[in-house]
Amino acid sequence: MVEAEPGRTPRGNSNDHLRRHNLSTILRLVHHERAISRSRLTQVMGLNRSTIGALVAELVDRDLVTESEAEATRQVGRPSLVVRPSSGPVGIAVNPEIDAITIGVVGLGGTVLAATRHPLSHIPTAVDAVAIIAGLLDDLRPSLTTAHRIVGVGVAVPGQVRASDGLVRLAPHLGWRDEPFAALLQEATALPVFADNDAHLGARAESAFGGGRGVGDLLYINGGASGIGGGVIANGRPLTGADGYAGELGHTMVNPSGAACHCGGVGCLETEVRRERLLELVGLDAGAAASLAEAFAASDDPAVGAEVDRQLGLLAVAIRNAVNLLNPRLILLGGFLAALHSAAPQRLADFGADRPLAASGESLQIRPAALGPDLLMIGAAELAFEPLLADPASF
Ligand SMILES: [Zn+2]
Repeated sequence: MVEAEPGRTPRGNSNDHLRRHNLSTILRLVHHERAISRSRLTQVMGLNRSTIGALVAELVDRDLVTESEAEATRQVGRPSLVVRPSSGPVGIAVNPEIDAITIGVVGLGGTVLAATRHPLSHIPTAVDAVAIIAGLLDDLRPSLTTAHRIVGVGVAVPGQVRASDGLVRLAPHLGWRDEPFAALLQEATALPVFADNDAHLGARAESAFGGGRGVGDLLYINGGASGIGGGVIANGRPLTGADGYAGELGHTMVNPSGAACHCGGVGCLETEVRRERLLELVGLDAGAAASLAEAFAASDDPAVGAEVDRQLGLLAVAIRNAVNLLNPRLILLGGFLAALHSAAPQRLADFGADRPLAASGESLQIRPAALGPDLLMIGAAELAFEPLLADPASF
């Protein structure tokens, strides 16, 4: 059986608590599997068929799952019923960036139903961003049917976010410092709002629905316009650290004689491994960053080859440190880091002279992230869905 969420206090008597716990376990399984047979639920949960039937019926009554006959198979006997997420509950996903705010509607099962990028002419203050998001949400509401229920809002922030209350401690490229962003947006929208670092949410999305499914220990490293971030899943759970700031791989030192970083350090990974330098060398503008991998493949310019090799070597230093510290089974690379890796996949696989201790790296795989442009929408919606998944009976 899956353990109860830490910090949850049982309510009611122990039978009631057990029922709520089982409802949560089933809803999480249906959410992550997107379709699961009743017989499989019976197996996984170790409960008898009638108990599973009653629990699923309660989730159907609450419009959280649906049940349907499986396709006919050649197996003897009645086909097992298949349980899927209901399309009723939706989470709102938001990603404020320096040049745009993206807002999406995501269903259970990590299904992105709609996503809109709202371009900005200036870097938004936190107060600007709250007003814009509230307006975008108002525009979006008519497209939702009466069957849809918004369970909450999840915000993917390019910066450090305090886990306890969604306070943005520092989003350097947005220029936000100690902004109570989740509280402000909650006040403006009258919806529950949760916020976390964007790379943390990328790790959660890849772990639940992307390249990290079924992998208990993984590291997601994202490279974007505003730098490099990391998210760690350890033993199946997001690694937050004491206050929510774990995973800042972008500010680990990879070059002692490198450039000064805004964090006060020198030679940080994100000051040395930079998207702009690569775009400039291959002659692409920021809007065409998705074509970096093709540009590397097509280029025979030795300057491009040398810079790619230099950046991969420095990324390997950071990866070596992370592997020695975390012993992940899988490292998923997002954004321009995936393009960099594709230019010479063996470079990171070998680690060259920067090899970690052999045992720490022996089961390691390094791959591009799988979810593409929907990644942050899916990750942010995971935040919005969490209270529902933790206790479906309270919804
Ligand atoms: Zn730094």
